[in-house]
Amino acid sequence: MRQSQLFTKTRKEAPSDEVSKNAELLIRAGFIYKEMAGVYSYLPMGLRVLKKIEAIIREEMNMIGGVEMQTSALQEKSVWAKTNRWSDDVVDNWFKTQLKNGTELGLSFTNEEAFSSLMKGFITSYKDLPAYPYDFKTIFRNEARAKSGIMRGREFHWKALYSFSRDEKDHNEFYKKIRQSYISVFDKVGLGGRTYLTFASGGTFSKYSHEFQTVSDAGEDIIYVDEAQGIAVNKEVLNDEVLADLNMSRESLQEKKAIEVGNIFSLGYKFSEPFSLTYKNEEGDNNLVYMGSYGIGISRLMGTVVETLSDEKGIIWPESIAPFTVHLISIGQNDKAQELYETLTTKGVEVLFDDRETSAGAKFADADLIGIPHRVVVSGRSLDQGGVEYKKRDREQGEIISVDDFVSQF
Ligand code: ATP
Ligand code: MG
Repeated sequence: MRQSQLFTKTRKEAPSDEVSKNAELLIRAGFIYKEMAGVYSYLPMGLRVLKKIEAIIREEMNMIGGVEMQTSALQEKSVWAKTNRWSDDVVDNWFKTQLKNGTELGLSFTNEEAFSSLMKGFITSYKDLPAYPYDFKTIFRNEARAKSGIMRGREFHWKALYSFSRDEKDHNEFYKKIRQSYISVFDKVGLGGRTYLTFASGGTFSKYSHEFQTVSDAGEDIIYVDEAQGIAVNKEVLNDEVLADLNMSRESLQEKKAIEVGNIFSLGYKFSEPFSLTYKNEEGDNNLVYMGSYGIGISRLMGTVVETLSDEKGIIWPESIAPFTVHLISIGQNDKAQELYETLTTKGVEVLFDDRETSAGAKFADADLIGIPHRVVVSGRSLDQGGVEYKKRDREQGEIISVDDFVSQF
């Protein structure tokens, strides 16, 4: 894409009421637009990042049998009344609205009821199981505090998968697989080293649930990390005599601030029971379906990357989710930059081509702020020296290399 055609502009300052680093950098670099506290629009480059994260998750979910679909955002009262989650006294973060005739509706704040109710229309026999539907969805929550930028939105994006299994044994096998997929997802988006599988309380149907917590000072959660094992526990598990079966002792744990980027949960019959979601087994008996739920906060993940992978000049995107792979900067009018743009795009490389008539200094500052991993500058001087000036975003120094050498690495 030509930067001259990108309508967004970088800004020196973020809105004065913005206190989080992720929103400040993302707004200044032109990835998101603040509509109001906790509500952000995704600008072209922000959407590209979001879609890349989605693509990584989609690939992992499909690999273990996930099937993508889309549940509606408008939800009816009767469905949520079944599990006693309609009342504002029980769930305090609903956004609700009404039809013209006064019928009450709610905007999805989560998805268990929507999927359980929907799957009742499709599951009748053991042959229909297992099923692993998932969706990427905009979720609405009337969060009391919205000070963490896109990490805690009142409108945000997530992936949720629900598993429908015949019994606990089948469920546990899938649970192990998706736990592994989650680890892969966080590795691939560049958060692997600092994201811990964290044991949290499990509810009625299993001893533990698991959160995926990324260590960061911007985190709202406190976790206790066992560095030797590379796992962590949540506060609620800390005082449990549970620690023993995790091979942990309190003394070996380090307290850290962390961001919950995802979680996986065995639901058992909690949702199948109120919906009478049953299947006939081989003998013709009715059994309740065994369920699990698996969420990843996509916008929170994007914010977490910015919080943890940035420097004083701006964002440093991992290549896997960067809006573009190459930031091609043309200094002065030159045909070589144009030629290189065409060569790279023909090769399928995603390039942001800074073809604007602006000073070199402004272009470099923008490139640092935007954070595309490979920066290549074509100027009269670089051409005199035999090529282009190439610098990775996370390096201090650039180098002159020939155009061919630069292109051949992609
Ligand atoms: P938290 O304790 O941080 O409020 P939660 O327990 O309410 O999170 P879930 O309901 O399990 O979260 O949602 C699944 C995932 O969605 C979370 O792991 C998190 O990554 C993300 N998420 C939750 N709330 C928000 C929000 N307000 N904005 C952005 N992402 C969110
Ligand atoms: Mg919450």
